[in-house]
Amino acid sequence: MSFDETINLEFLKKFVNAPSPTGSEEPAQKLYQDYLKDIADEIKTDVLGNVDAVLNPNGKPRIVLMGHVDEVGLQVRYISDKGFIYFNPLGGLDAHLLPSKRITILAKSGNIFGVIGKKAIHLQEPDERKKVIKIQDQYIDVGARSREEVEKMGIQIGDPIIFNDSFAYLGNNGDVVSRCFDDKIGAFIIAEVLRYLKQENIEASIHAVSSVQEEIGTRGAVVSAFSVDPDVGIAFDVTHTSDTPGIKEADLGIKKLGGGPVIVRGPNINPKLYELFVKTAEELEIPLQISAASRPTGTDARSIQMTRAGVATGLIGIPNRYMHSMTEIVNLKDVEQIVKLTVAVIKKITKDTSFIPE
Ligand SMILES: [Zn+2]
Repeated sequence: MSFDETINLEFLKKFVNAPSPTGSEEPAQKLYQDYLKDIADEIKTDVLGNVDAVLNPNGKPRIVLMGHVDEVGLQVRYISDKGFIYFNPLGGLDAHLLPSKRITILAKSGNIFGVIGKKAIHLQEPDERKKVIKIQDQYIDVGARSREEVEKMGIQIGDPIIFNDSFAYLGNNGDVVSRCFDDKIGAFIIAEVLRYLKQENIEASIHAVSSVQEEIGTRGAVVSAFSVDPDVGIAFDVTHTSDTPGIKEADLGIKKLGGGPVIVRGPNINPKLYELFVKTAEELEIPLQISAASRPTGTDARSIQMTRAGVATGLIGIPNRYMHSMTEIVNLKDVEQIVKLTVAVIKKITKDTSFIPE
């Protein structure tokens, strides 16, 4: 299966591999800016680090597309006398997954390689083997013998840390695996949407915002949406599938990897914008998977909707297995369809389109 013609896989790979731990997203944001510098009419940044690539700045209505670029990671909390580094989680992490992972500390002096250590199985008491070690008690080994040596390497308290897992193709169904598709895949999608819209005649002004700090409370979205002051906002974020062992469809709904774009429905979502997506998907014969959310979603959509006097908000989910692990899987066919569908929806929105519920 070849996706090269429709989406820029070269850029996706580079973008996903670039570090962007929550609060220190600059390396990935730089790539995002470089990619869109000849496509956007203007690119704006702000003090939190959001990047807003704007097409047709004077168009109406104003539409913000948002994908968060930040990824879950770790942060240096404490360095022991013996030179072991204890860490905080940056975002929600599963303590089960961390021991024996290779990591990179993003120090001011440069990138420093390390591993998360754990006592060998031979040395564990029988009941220790059954227990999860709290993140608070786990540690990183950077090959130093003392605190002084760690400090000399340039590692400082508060330094962000990422996992070393990177982009790879998986199987023959268009699946790809990496750390942090949550949510670089969303930021990638809005970049691709902007690239396609560049070739179209559109009435609306488009703001493709690669947002920051979503993982600790959609903080980039709050300030960015205020700044853009949009009429319409669409967030793109990964969503759990129910197609792997141990997950009940009855709990999560039927959502499959490669099953098509997931569209969210509920109070967080403007019903007219939702209908516009559904109708357009039917016309394009793109399969949609519907997800019910009865509360504000845990995505940038929750903040976009409540901006200023209110924003007509939509949320498109990218089907994702193993969220917040180092082996998150998404499917390129789903990505391609989301780009195509979103471009078609935006082409239909004019300054006369009303999103007031009636
Ligand atoms: Zn997340």
